[in-house]
Amino acid sequence: MKEMLIMTPGPTEVAENVRLARAKATTNPDIDLAFYDFYKKTCSKLAQFLKTKNDVRVLAGEGILGLEAACASLTEKGDRVLVLDNGIFGHGFSDFIELYGGEAILLESSGKEAFSLEILEKFLEKDHDFKYATVVHCDTPSGVLNDLSSICPLLKKYGILTVVDSVAAMGGEELQVDKWQIDIALGGSQKVISAPPGLTIASISTEAYQAMTERKSPIASFYCNLLTFKDYYEKKWFPYTMPISDIYGLDQAIDNLLADQEILKRHAMIGHATRQAIENSPLELYLQNGYSNTVSVIKVPEGLNDQEILRKMRENYRVMITGSFDHLAGKVLRIGHMGENARPNKVAYSLYALQKVLEDFGIAFKNNLQEDFLEALN
Ligand SMILES: *Cc1c(COP(=O)(O)O)cnc(C)c1O
Repeated sequence: MKEMLIMTPGPTEVAENVRLARAKATTNPDIDLAFYDFYKKTCSKLAQFLKTKNDVRVLAGEGILGLEAACASLTEKGDRVLVLDNGIFGHGFSDFIELYGGEAILLESSGKEAFSLEILEKFLEKDHDFKYATVVHCDTPSGVLNDLSSICPLLKKYGILTVVDSVAAMGGEELQVDKWQIDIALGGSQKVISAPPGLTIASISTEAYQAMTERKSPIASFYCNLLTFKDYYEKKWFPYTMPISDIYGLDQAIDNLLADQEILKRHAMIGHATRQAIENSPLELYLQNGYSNTVSVIKVPEGLNDQEILRKMRENYRVMITGSFDHLAGKVLRIGHMGENARPNKVAYSLYALQKVLEDFGIAFKNNLQEDFLEALN
């Protein structure tokens, strides 16, 4: 049987050299000093990739660990935290903030477009007494991309620390941590980076560290405490045993990304061509603007069931795309074209399969999704 093509917005396909790096002989990463150097080198490559002089750390846990660790490390009882809410992950930050005793103040903007800078400007003029703010780069369930280059510097102008979830964008969309003044930028191994799930990437600014060390109460977590990693290299001590094979894989995945000079351009071309093909067809994109080039989100045609479409895609064509969750469950289909999935042949075949399946369900196409996609690439 044909291998399944995994076209979900993470986890993505993993390149062979990453899989092989994970098979390398291992050592005791707590004791072997060579591993501290290896980890340090991986972190500096990540810093180069994130365009930052800030510390970068790799934590042993899937992307969600980073979101919780940022909130756990910064939040003290009664702290006011601004949550930019134009998507499901955006909204979700409030749970972590409240779990650690903070007060989450949600600022909403339409979930169908990039977060409105005007709404944020007006709001901050009246109220800007926040310890930090959270914002999602690409909110994957809807595919909306927020403009960090204007949002984060604006927040910093008011002295508000910035925490960014870039799990689904990092590597596929521009991300300039220092220039955009991002205090904590978070990523995961399994999205654009195209390593298996299991690792969080976090960059941490001096100001963010300062907010953690100046706390009146201790950080109410051990695993989620970002300070425990601060001086690992000098102390030759990790707070827990590092998953060495996962980190070998991540290191190779970062090498792949750094060597790939065209990666942002390829994501932009593929994102654009996918949207163009959808727009020429009877299908509709979910968003009005603010499209991330890492994922395309398409409305489920009237009267059809998302699960049946997804099942036929898998069974008849061996392509795995996905629906969404929370208030978008059943309403949209998502094709992930990030990292190893951002390849013209993979997206073209996925669109071919999608059209065939939808035609079986009675949707009449006048255009050809695959052809329109390939045309729009040029
Ligand atoms: C994938 C993702 C995460 C990690 O969450 P999982 O659902 O556990 O994969 C966090 N934030 C965003 C925006 C993501 O896309």
